[in-house]
Amino acid sequence: MRDFGDVKKIVIKVGSSSITLPNGKINKSKVKHIIKEIAALMDKGYKVLFVTSGAVGAGIGKFNLDKKPKELSMRRALAAVGQVELMRFYESLFYAHDKTMAQLLLTKIDFVDEERFNNLKDLCEILMRENVIPVINENDAVVINEIKVGDNDTLSALSCKIIDADLLIILSDIDGLYDSNPKQNSNCKLISTVNSISDVEACAGAAGSELGTGGMLTKIQAAKIATEDGRHMLIINGDDPSNISKAVEGQEIGTWFRSN
Ligand code: GLU
Repeated sequence: MRDFGDVKKIVIKVGSSSITLPNGKINKSKVKHIIKEIAALMDKGYKVLFVTSGAVGAGIGKFNLDKKPKELSMRRALAAVGQVELMRFYESLFYAHDKTMAQLLLTKIDFVDEERFNNLKDLCEILMRENVIPVINENDAVVINEIKVGDNDTLSALSCKIIDADLLIILSDIDGLYDSNPKQNSNCKLISTVNSISDVEACAGAAGSELGTGGMLTKIQAAKIATEDGRHMLIINGDDPSNISKAVEGQEIGTWFRSN
């Protein structure tokens, strides 16, 4: 067993591939289960901040497209529409568990500008004190290259700084980090514990799924930020959302990046 006994504040991140079906529609039963798990953690007294992708994915479903368009302007429109669709669904689920959520749409500026970052910290402190869960995504509808974080793995690691989280949990569509690419090598092994990021930097391919942005590379970059800040990080398989509570209990699933 892993010992997460001191953990009080958790950031949980889901990617588009975990919450949307291959046709772009939201995977409602999966999302329901994820929110049930998060609500259960909150009922146990954990403070949780939720980082979610899927705005563009939900927009694809809404516009009945079959894949992500290449033009940035169209992606922005999809994000603007899809973000509402996504939040409408999350809100109804949190409400069913008697929880209130708040939406925060951020860009890199919110983390690098000291005043904006301090405002963000104060805001989240109040929200959490009131038992409101902050739900974060990048502001994809208006963001431009110069100010974009770009992927939500990194955004989740940066978001840990807002609440000084103890643990970051990234839900993936595979079991964790492997010693070689599981799509190419059937003898690959799941890495259970990473003591030093430099040991695993070579394991990550950059590939992501059709809908997602990040592959393992962005997850390792996120782990680097999180562990250097003294936080634990886990990559677990989000196909079975009950992995969230199992992981927090300390069961040895997924890949655990030890805090430095
Ligand atoms: N912010 C993007 C979205 O909501 C996703 C970025 C990512 O997948 O990392 O679709």
